[in-house]
Amino acid sequence: MKTHLAFILFILAVFTLLSFLVLGEEGDRAQRVIASGEVSLTVVYDNYSVDSDLQTSWGFGCVVKTEKTMVLFDTGGDGSILLSNMKKVGRVPGDVDVVAISHVHGDHVGGLAGFLEENNQVTVYIPASLPDSTREMIGRKGARYVDITESRRIVDDVHTAGELGTWIKEQSLIVESTHGLIIVTGCAHPGVVNIVKKAKAYREEEVHLVMGGFHLMGTPEGELLGIVDEFRKMNVNKVAPSHCSGDLCRELFEEEYGEDFIDSGVGRTILID
Ligand SMILES: [Zn+2]
Ligand SMILES: [Zn+2]
Repeated sequence: MKTHLAFILFILAVFTLLSFLVLGEEGDRAQRVIASGEVSLTVVYDNYSVDSDLQTSWGFGCVVKTEKTMVLFDTGGDGSILLSNMKKVGRVPGDVDVVAISHVHGDHVGGLAGFLEENNQVTVYIPASLPDSTREMIGRKGARYVDITESRRIVDDVHTAGELGTWIKEQSLIVESTHGLIIVTGCAHPGVVNIVKKAKAYREEEVHLVMGGFHLMGTPEGELLGIVDEFRKMNVNKVAPSHCSGDLCRELFEEEYGEDFIDSGVGRTILID
């Protein structure tokens, strides 16, 4: 009799635990605990929107979370919008370990000062081409900075493609995952195809996902179709263009990629597990 009771209690405990796990996952994907090898990417600043609770504004910012580290890639144009959006999706600014800035434009670096006022216990990885005024500002806020020129590891599974381009120099993030590389671009001024090629050459791995700004607004359809074709030739599995990609670029990628096109914008969390 006693063993029966223990058995029933055991089954009840297992069911309770399972329902907690299932509800937890469905309740909020952004809050989900990241296991080893998993990566979650949450867009916290964008002019495209997938969640009307968050503020939409021109620019880009994305929180990359791996098992051990939280990286903020780009800060949008306004610190208060960035911080408010981060809190709404459960990405506590104080939990960020590392910040990386893609390039000099205000819609990517404008929110940095406001962010550092909330959390200055971070190292900020900036393109070496950024003006000294940015370094001075980072120093004044009490944070550290590292200049980036070459591709290298930043922290754990997160790398930079290095400073690419000539006129407007820019770095992109490369994140290792069990499915292949994830590339996050700020504005992709050096050309999104060039960035993907560089990442593949640097890590010698296949590319699972490219997300962020593709800098293709106003690009003619013929040229856009050529870029979509290049993505297929480079074996990119999934795409999530937002920010400065343009509506037509997004439409053409969606036509080609179908379910592997991710409608990205502020509030979107992409979980790679
Ligand atoms: Zn730009
Ligand atoms: Zn931009």
